[in-house]
Amino acid sequence: MLEIVSFTLRPAQTIAYLVADPETREAAVIDPSWDGHVILKEAQKRGWRIGHLWYTHAHFDHIGGAGAIADALNPLPLVALHPNDHVLWRAGGGGALFGFDIDPGPEPTIDFVHGMTMKLGSNEFEVRFTPGHTPGHCVFYVADTRAERSEPTGERSRSVCFCGDLIFNGSVGRTDLPGGDWDTLVKSIKEQIFTLPDDTRLLSGHGPITTVGEEKMNNPFVGGM
Ligand SMILES: [Zn+2]
Ligand SMILES: [Zn+2]
Repeated sequence: MLEIVSFTLRPAQTIAYLVADPETREAAVIDPSWDGHVILKEAQKRGWRIGHLWYTHAHFDHIGGAGAIADALNPLPLVALHPNDHVLWRAGGGGALFGFDIDPGPEPTIDFVHGMTMKLGSNEFEVRFTPGHTPGHCVFYVADTRAERSEPTGERSRSVCFCGDLIFNGSVGRTDLPGGDWDTLVKSIKEQIFTLPDDTRLLSGHGPITTVGEEKMNNPFVGGM
């Protein structure tokens, strides 16, 4: 079973997802966006142990809470990121462009590879490589959450995809920042998101929840299928 708690955090209203298997109490944070202490406190309240930080990509507003989370944990959480975003990670996630100097936390030691599976208790997250917003962007697909309770979705037993800044409810990720590429972004959405079941819930890095079917039909940038 997968439990999901979401946090919308400063300065870019980026959504961090705390995910856990409530039976084993193993937890991971997908994009620890900001204010790591807020995420930590919630995990502690629930008796969950954060062992992993998984990054869809290395922009500063998706990793800004990593340092505070890692500082409070022993052993340190393992950090996973696609190698194509290591340069961006080392550059502080590009925060200097926006006037932010973040503590990036522990060095990524797990390299995401397209098609690999990340395990969290009984849950399996399929890593899909989806460049375009950044060169190393990935999404994480869970085919069956078996969720009894899932705070952002509010429903049980649906597939979900944590899709970072690839696609949003009614929009898509920007491609004007260093390493972005529009044609690559569109290809990633069509090949890696629109091939998922229509009722898959899309949990993005910004904005409200949506589904694959909804975006296929109505997304003004890539929809109309
Ligand atoms: Zn981004
Ligand atoms: Zn973002």
